[in-house]
Amino acid sequence: MIKLKNIEIGKNEIAVIAGPCAIESEEQMEKVGVKLKKLGIKIMRGGAYKPRTCPHSFQGLGKKGLKILKETADRHDLSTVTEVMGIRDADLVAEHADILQVGARNMQNFELLKELGKLKKPVLLKRGSNATIEELLFAAEHILIHGNTRIILCERGIRTFEKETRNTLTLATIPLVKELSSLPIIVDPSHGTGKKSLIEPMTKAAIAAGADGFMIEVHPSPENALSDSQQQLNLKELETLMRNIKPIVKAMNKSI
Ligand code: PEP
Ligand code: MN
Repeated sequence: MIKLKNIEIGKNEIAVIAGPCAIESEEQMEKVGVKLKKLGIKIMRGGAYKPRTCPHSFQGLGKKGLKILKETADRHDLSTVTEVMGIRDADLVAEHADILQVGARNMQNFELLKELGKLKKPVLLKRGSNATIEELLFAAEHILIHGNTRIILCERGIRTFEKETRNTLTLATIPLVKELSSLPIIVDPSHGTGKKSLIEPMTKAAIAAGADGFMIEVHPSPENALSDSQQQLNLKELETLMRNIKPIVKAMNKSI
């Protein structure tokens, strides 16, 4: 169980993490923050340092983005998660965010894992797109043995021969990780599918499979997003999703 100021992750409450792929401006984050607060969502996401496949794509606002994330979250009493891409940024990100995200591309960056073990802030560890479940659990252990037990695992899909979806979202990971480990696990259906229309069914399935929460990308105007515009819900769609998952949450004897 991981305790934040406003939620305990890994108990009976489904942890919802929502926010844009990348932090783009104060206005964008404020619109999202207002909506999260209204919907009772407690954790805001947003990337300040973005791992982009193409070097010419938007790379994130860096330190300025971290500041916007923190200020927005403070105004609305939200917890935050954002990615730390390298050791160099770790202290700065830790000063600005409540949970430090290790992205899929960095799951086996052992030096970074060691550093996050020493920092002792909650870590959201995403599965590498070609990593086995055993490798994911070993990566978590790298953080654990350096003194940090506050780790949340995240299934975000793996790379397969399938081309219709961005990744193949393997939901069997959830009950399996529950058998093998006591760490909480959440699901990221946004990167897991890359498709807006698949987010609601996959979120419902993840909750039904026993996930401790989910992380989704939302943007006030997805069509104008600087990254991942195909997979971000708008604020109205977020509201609909939150309403439609309620019966599944209840059926699992959990709250949201
Ligand atoms: C993200 O969550 O911002 C992200 C880049 O995801 P992943 O590392 O899973 O690709
Ligand atoms: Mn993204």
